[in-house]
Amino acid sequence: MNKNRILFGASYSAIEPLGLLHLGGLARDLGWERSYHLVKDHNFEDFFEIVNDYKPFVVGFNVYTGNHLQLKEAFEHLKKDYPGIMIIVGGPHPTYFPRESKIFADYVVMSEGFYALKGILEGRFKSAIWPPRKSERFPHPDRKTFYDLYPEHANSKIKSIITMTGCPYTCTYCYNSSKPEDIDAPELLSGVTGRLFPNNIRPVEDVIKEGLEIKENWPTEIIYCQDDVHGMDTKHWLPEFVKEWKSKVNLPYHAQMRWEMTKGANGTQRLEMLREAGCFGLTLAIESADKVIRKEILSRGMDQSTMFTGMKKLIDFGFKVRTEQITGLPYGATSEITPMNLRADLDLVKLNVDLKKITGGPTMAWASTFAPYRGTKLGSYCEKMGHYSGDNSDVPDTFFEESILRFPRKWVGLGLEHFKHNNELWLSESELSKYRKQNAELRRIFNFVCLVPRGDELAENYLLTASEFNFNWLSIFTDTHFQNLAASGDYEAIKTLDLSENLEKLGAKKDVSLYLACLPKASLAVSKVQGLIDEKSFSTAIRHHLYDNVLYKDDNMINEIDSSRASDGRKDNFNISS
Ligand code: SF4
Repeated sequence: MNKNRILFGASYSAIEPLGLLHLGGLARDLGWERSYHLVKDHNFEDFFEIVNDYKPFVVGFNVYTGNHLQLKEAFEHLKKDYPGIMIIVGGPHPTYFPRESKIFADYVVMSEGFYALKGILEGRFKSAIWPPRKSERFPHPDRKTFYDLYPEHANSKIKSIITMTGCPYTCTYCYNSSKPEDIDAPELLSGVTGRLFPNNIRPVEDVIKEGLEIKENWPTEIIYCQDDVHGMDTKHWLPEFVKEWKSKVNLPYHAQMRWEMTKGANGTQRLEMLREAGCFGLTLAIESADKVIRKEILSRGMDQSTMFTGMKKLIDFGFKVRTEQITGLPYGATSEITPMNLRADLDLVKLNVDLKKITGGPTMAWASTFAPYRGTKLGSYCEKMGHYSGDNSDVPDTFFEESILRFPRKWVGLGLEHFKHNNELWLSESELSKYRKQNAELRRIFNFVCLVPRGDELAENYLLTASEFNFNWLSIFTDTHFQNLAASGDYEAIKTLDLSENLEKLGAKKDVSLYLACLPKASLAVSKVQGLIDEKSFSTAIRHHLYDNVLYKDDNMINEIDSSRASDGRKDNFNISS
């Protein structure tokens, strides 16, 4: 076993494990050898083999609620076979459940881990739970070691970067808004005030150094900026970043922010600066279409008008916009009557359809199903009101499975807490199963129905009456929907039907041409799906089309390139003729 060798691990994702790469940078700066392993589908066989071959002295793993049970088992196995290896765990789950995590690890690192990992690797810290102390400057990430091991990440045309952690907002479902009293052992954090995850903004020079390294060493077309709220500080950080990024790195990027950040003159100035820097796309969360649900359940008391005005600005500035929403929320216990269950989910489609009709955006609408993570305020709310009583061992590993909540039949109000044991109030087993399936299917077709005029009506008809949920039935319902709209003189529907006929001339099959006609850059989509027969390959091709050709494609950049090519061409012509 090599005394200065560390193996970092995380569950597999197509996105680089940014947190680990920064921690790896810290280990590199302390002279440690590093390796990385991403575990696919909770299968730890390869991981154990790597431990056997690499013989690390330390294993550090990122744990979240969803992989915590599998990791517990894997670490018990590891400890039995390699008792000398030191196990460090960090990430959201150990931060909220340090005592529980300590059972299967030697060190538990809570919240931001730079300070604690440094102490551990320098041999100054004993085996213990290490609460957050002080924020440290992000070490330069260890991309090279990671990309050498993971060429698919190295060759991805999209690279992720993070310029800050922490968030000033207080969404109830988000770890970022948690405070020390929300964890399973608050006494560990006595004296710690404020948020559990601190606000740590990287110096612009560090971000530029990283951007340049990416640009010079690995094929990259765009950057995905993982900040939760990018560009908060419009006085100092953002102006400096814009100037440096534009002049030195000049890679287009997609980022994330809140609708409130688009408001007023300051919002306009922020968007101007972002465009100047090369930001061409933004993701903003709507989460719920109902103001009472947003305010009381999610702590996002934002007006609908902020979204409409914000979206209009974003589209006028030329941003590609993705909206995000959460379906299957714990409905029914608000102070005022709100839409419930499927109705509330469908209202999200309607809101996106209305936004698109009035402002031209979003470019893409993405939906998840709510999971009640313990430790978050909304997780506790679900237990209090009776929507959930599990221990999170059933929390799905991805956003793409069925809900694990139960739902009231109709709105009850604040008193639900006192009546939660009355089974009459809740959907029966069969009703619950039906809603969970409808919800999962709505999530699957969400972006598509948001692109369709009156798409909420199409979604409702399909989800309530289709005898099966599959592409075939969706096509049938879509066709009827468009024929009805066209018969009533709906101009957009008539245009889309015409386009679908034209797409057939380009080679689109009749049963998918209308679906394709609803998508942006439809003729390009036709070429992507040609020859694909089964539904799975078709959906994968469509997903790639929507991300590669639409959301993550900086059309302005292409225009710039095209026009510079055109001007080169003119020069050539001039040279020839002269
Ligand atoms: S704005 Fe985003 S990062 Fe901030 S608390 Fe809300 S969900 Fe979390």
